[in-house]
Amino acid sequence: MTVSAWLPARVVSVTPTTPHARVLMLDVPGWPGNLPGQHLDVRLTAEDGYQAERSYSLASSGAGARVELAVDEIPDGEVSPYLVREVRAGDELEVKGPLGAYFVWRTDDPSPVQLIAGGSGVVPLVAIARARIAASASVSPMRLLYSVRSAGDALYAEEISTFEDRGVTTSWVYTRTAPDGWNGRTGRVDADLLADAVWSPSMNPLIFVCGPTGFVEAVADALVVSGHDPGRVRTERFGGS
Ligand SMILES: Cc1cc2nc3c(=O)[nH]c(=O)nc-3n(C[C@H](O)[C@H](O)[C@H](O)COP(=O)(O)OP(=O)(O)OC[C@H]3O[C@@H](n4cnc5c(N)ncnc54)[C@H](O)[C@@H]3O)c2cc1C
Repeated sequence: MTVSAWLPARVVSVTPTTPHARVLMLDVPGWPGNLPGQHLDVRLTAEDGYQAERSYSLASSGAGARVELAVDEIPDGEVSPYLVREVRAGDELEVKGPLGAYFVWRTDDPSPVQLIAGGSGVVPLVAIARARIAASASVSPMRLLYSVRSAGDALYAEEISTFEDRGVTTSWVYTRTAPDGWNGRTGRVDADLLADAVWSPSMNPLIFVCGPTGFVEAVADALVVSGHDPGRVRTERFGGS
């Protein structure tokens, strides 16, 4: 799958997934297809010619001209408020991709896989979990640990709640507000939580960690301290803290 030049992309649908995030379906004629975990660049051009580019993970994978993104609004951001509040079905953007050769999962890799997301960092991990669920021949055991401020901040919450029954073990951690009746963990992800919710180092899992920079660094450091092979911990930083 070679990286495309900038391609015109038509917005097919815009669906709220939280009060501040939207799932965008795009039709991209000429899209070369992508692997689970890859991202693309979006380019916006204003009427005066000013351009802004940002990276967005692909929630979709495989062949075909339709791609799926999920964008979480960063207050005071330049691009994400436009993609979340302004963009409508029928609008045109430009995209380039697929990008990223390292933060990808291949369905023929039999290793246990651990997915660890903070906030919107769940997007490429949803692509990986969907690919695992679709790949009936895959033998790779998969788990997801998803850290969000509150239940209402979770992207793809409804779909993720079905993962457990479809072979992807799921654990949640709420950093600020837990749902009523929650008797699991609340607070930041730490070594104790990772020991409970992550495949053990003895299984040598392939680990994908994605989210804000501070979250990714704290989790990756804690994993290595607890005995995981640094070469098996793949990280993707979304920026911010
Ligand atoms: C490989 C990759 C994949 C990404 N995938 C996604 C995705 O699937 N969904 C998604 O919503 N975003 C994703 N991002 C983040 C995205 O590229 C933008 O950084 C984000 O949308 C903010 O852009 P902005 O123009 O609105 O904010 P900017 O104008 O660039 O920044 C405004 C302020 O927000 C801070 N900031 C920027 N990004 C973040 C962030 N992610 N979290 C917290 N603070 C931030 C900046 O430090 C700055 O202070 C990804 C980033 C990378 C590098």
